[in-house]
Amino acid sequence: MAQQEDVFKKIVSHCKEYGFVFPSSDIYDGLGAVYDYGQNGVELKNNIKQYWWQSMVLLHENIVGIDAAIFMHPTTWKASGHVDAFNDPLIDNRDSKKRYRADVLIEDQMAKYDEKIDKEVEKARKRFKENFNEAQYRATSPKVLELAEKRDALHKRFQEVMNAEGGIDLEGMKQIILDEEIVCPISGTRNWTDVRQFNLMFSTEMGAAAEGASKIYLRPETAQGIFVNYLNVQKTGRMKLPFGIAQIGKAFRNEIVARQFIFRMREFEQMEMQFFIQPGTELDWFAKWKETRMKWHQNLGFGAENYRFHDHDKLAHYANAATDIEFHMPFGFKEVEGIHSRTNFDLSQHAKYSGKKIEYFDPERNESYTPYVIETSIGVDRMFLSIMCHSYEEQQLPDGQTRTVLHLPAALAPVKLAVFPLTKKDGMPEKAQEIINSLRFHFNCKYEEKDQIGKRYRRMDAIGCPYCVTVDQQTLEDNTVTLRDRDTMEQRRVAISDLRSIIEDKVSITSLLKNLI
Ligand code: ATP
Repeated sequence: MAQQEDVFKKIVSHCKEYGFVFPSSDIYDGLGAVYDYGQNGVELKNNIKQYWWQSMVLLHENIVGIDAAIFMHPTTWKASGHVDAFNDPLIDNRDSKKRYRADVLIEDQMAKYDEKIDKEVEKARKRFKENFNEAQYRATSPKVLELAEKRDALHKRFQEVMNAEGGIDLEGMKQIILDEEIVCPISGTRNWTDVRQFNLMFSTEMGAAAEGASKIYLRPETAQGIFVNYLNVQKTGRMKLPFGIAQIGKAFRNEIVARQFIFRMREFEQMEMQFFIQPGTELDWFAKWKETRMKWHQNLGFGAENYRFHDHDKLAHYANAATDIEFHMPFGFKEVEGIHSRTNFDLSQHAKYSGKKIEYFDPERNESYTPYVIETSIGVDRMFLSIMCHSYEEQQLPDGQTRTVLHLPAALAPVKLAVFPLTKKDGMPEKAQEIINSLRFHFNCKYEEKDQIGKRYRRMDAIGCPYCVTVDQQTLEDNTVTLRDRDTMEQRRVAISDLRSIIEDKVSITSLLKNLI
């Protein structure tokens, strides 16, 4: 674990050193849980967004996009339930003065039981060597069974307090923390305050005070921009159920425990799609979107074992199914995307609060109804982090040296091709520029002439550039170059005229999208 934390620290500093992610307002020592994307980060982020957008809007004839404003009529958030219920349960440790989300402390405790079980299994595997039968051991070892029983009991209690009548049972939550003897990771003590609720929405004022300014919120999710535009899009686009509306945009949450770099930010970006369907078909569509979204993730080639579904214990009262797609980060399996079956809750609420009829006339059933909704909601920044974590490698080379390389999926890499003149003379720089000029309309190219070739390769490895080309004396004679592959480090001689056909397909988002259909 300690080793994993070290790796994570290295990834964070790598992100800064190579222009991916900077702390916000860095010269003023940053702003808590707010980050800026640098010259390479913005390219990677744009590519992630493009991969998502195109997989939704380009590959589905019945999904269209919108771009709603961040500011929305304040009643939106009354209707959606955010004013009254977008709260996190908070608890403070009196000794360290640190604040935690009580539900997260309990979830971490459950994960600890799982870790202990895994440790027991690993110990037994070493002991029994090739005779080890893992399934049998898990089913019969008294130690494992005892831990599993404790975990299940905690799980059951947690579910009860989260789903208590009238909202989360805050006292019950504190009692769990005390009974489980959960300690503050900083002070190591159990000197806890009571659990309180805290609203996560940022508010500001619109209009000058004299004119009677009104309190408005920075949207905590992009979804409501889609719900309030449901009628506009359905009517003007003459959309027939089932159909979806996709959107990418900023969201803001006053997160109490902002940690783990860009995993939990106060200003972040979401990619959400609301899929409107006939009531009664939601569980089928829920299953379908689970599969579609998992395929989208696994298509990046990071290994199926690094993903899992986590079905929600706590279902919002309006939801009838919810799951998270979790990715194996250096700090454990963590949510990257949520998939929720939200019934007709949001549209009905907006109909009630706005006084407008928000319904769909179904010509096949010859009746009007409020559509049900399946939502897929993914954080761009969390996706970015998962890609960075998986791609980062400090590689030992056969010659004893090490290199830091980002094995980014080529289609997402900020720069696709770097072109180097071997030396700054004999017309090599001009030739290199010529190559870039002919390829820049097809993919992102970068010119580099500083330092020896070896150092230039290292710099390109560190930003995940999949291909490098070197222009040398021979190039001037026969128009061939050496093409070097980031992952294998193999070099081969190819004609300049072949570069586009060799590279373009491999680095294009289209190539990723083709695997999805
Ligand atoms: P968590 O339980 O981690 O707070 P959530 O369940 O509240 O997340 P949703 O409301 O379902 O998250 O939001 C959908 C997606 O938006 C999440 O899966 C995540 O990728 C992203 N997201 C949510 N909050 C943040 C945040 N503070 N910083 C970065 N991304 C976020």
